[in-house]
Amino acid sequence: MNATAAIGVTGLGVMGRNLARNFARNGYTVAVHNRTAGRTRALVEEFGHEGAFVPAESAADFVAALERPRRLMIMVQAGAVTDAVIEEFAPLLEPGDMIIDGGNAHYADTRRREESLRERGLHFVGAGVSGGEEGALNGPAVMVGGSSESYDVLGPMFESISAKVDGEPCATHIGTDGAGHFVKMVHNGIEYADMQLIAEAYDLLRQVAGYTPAEIAGIFRTWNEGRLGSYLIEITAEVLAHTDAATGRAFVDVVADAAGQKGTGRWTVQTALDLGSPVTAIAQATFARAASGQRELRAAYAGLPGGTTPPLSRTEATRFTSQVEHALYASKVIAYDQGWKMIQDAAGEFGWKIDLGAVARIWRGGCIIRASFLDRIRAAYAADPDLVSLLGEMEFAMEITDAQVPWRETVASAARRGIPVPAFSAALAHYDTLRAERLPAALLQGQRDYFGAHTYGRTDRPGAFHTHWAEPG
Ligand code: NAP
Repeated sequence: MNATAAIGVTGLGVMGRNLARNFARNGYTVAVHNRTAGRTRALVEEFGHEGAFVPAESAADFVAALERPRRLMIMVQAGAVTDAVIEEFAPLLEPGDMIIDGGNAHYADTRRREESLRERGLHFVGAGVSGGEEGALNGPAVMVGGSSESYDVLGPMFESISAKVDGEPCATHIGTDGAGHFVKMVHNGIEYADMQLIAEAYDLLRQVAGYTPAEIAGIFRTWNEGRLGSYLIEITAEVLAHTDAATGRAFVDVVADAAGQKGTGRWTVQTALDLGSPVTAIAQATFARAASGQRELRAAYAGLPGGTTPPLSRTEATRFTSQVEHALYASKVIAYDQGWKMIQDAAGEFGWKIDLGAVARIWRGGCIIRASFLDRIRAAYAADPDLVSLLGEMEFAMEITDAQVPWRETVASAARRGIPVPAFSAALAHYDTLRAERLPAALLQGQRDYFGAHTYGRTDRPGAFHTHWAEPG
């Protein structure tokens, strides 16, 4: 077999098949391979006209079809399957060749695989691919890890297949080893927070302001024209406007209220605990999904008393809607800020040099959290690459200042009415934690010293101190 393919894709499921087509549509010759050969044949039969495909049934033929240095992309399930596929191909490759894992791998697995393959002379590139089936075909956001040497070769390819915003590609080299998969994981964590915040806003507009799902769809459409403009707000309006064909009721009212999850939100929270990064809005969003699924518990306590408030007049409802917009926006800024800070914390821990502005740039298109305000996050980091928090940027700071009263009013209304808003509350509490001059952590230190002699620092002199609590006086 002649080595003519610029890239090979093995694993031609939902994502792999579309990524292979995307490479081919962009002029690359693509070797395609799948465990079940029928899928390889089906791809070429159905889409062969879209570009140059080289189908291969055996692993040896697949590798032989690749130009050197070989670029072999794996699109299979994360975990043991990915390890098995790497072990199938790595022995057939030569030093300098590249294995790219485009699946949703855990960044720690990517770090392990990169280290082990580096010892064998191979480049291992963990590439986070966002945008689902449609994005894979028409332009995903691609968060690429691995060596910068491998990005020199792969970068132009990923940039050409990625989404473009204002002519700029939504693909970049995030950092070495697992940095790409780490940032993809945090993207998904932020996605959890964003979705939960939007859901809480909907719930308040429905239960406090008394709007119908169709009316709330209209509100979201209006918001989508402003600073909240984003893919998630756009699709929320579509979902809320949708009527269930079988019953004629609002679609949202016939869907069981137990949220699913595939695990990347959980990974973000688990990792944040290890790093000591307080991503509280993401954590609450993840727990909110888990709590929604505890149906027996919820059924058992469904009758417990909650708060009440009188219904709002039309004028009050309009005013409340504006409050919720402020609360949603301010909470969203905090949730994104938490994600960025977590990336900064990880960069420090793992020695990654991450361009935080570039992360915002590539998330403007292709991925689920694509949003107009990412342009502003990008600009904030361009102006100050070492920005510790978005709250340190003047425009964001002013918006958060403007949101103070409505944000607090929104959370207070939810508490008075007995409506759970865990992500709104977490975001507001995080903001108040950041701005507090003194935190009750001082008291915690006293407690820790009392029962465990853990010592404490003092405000008036340096050093570690212990009080002999058991001694009288
Ligand atoms: P999929 O449609 O289920 O396809 C899985 C692929 O893996 C198939 O080609 C399958 O081959 C192959 N495979 C499974 N077990 C194998 C084994 N033991 N040895 C060799 N090949 C094996 O999965 P997908 O949705 O494309 O997802 C692929 C990766 O992309 C996953 O890591 C996923 O998390 C990630 N991802 C998915 C999305 C999404 O929206 N779906 C978005 C971003 C990332 P057979 O045809 O022989 O079964």
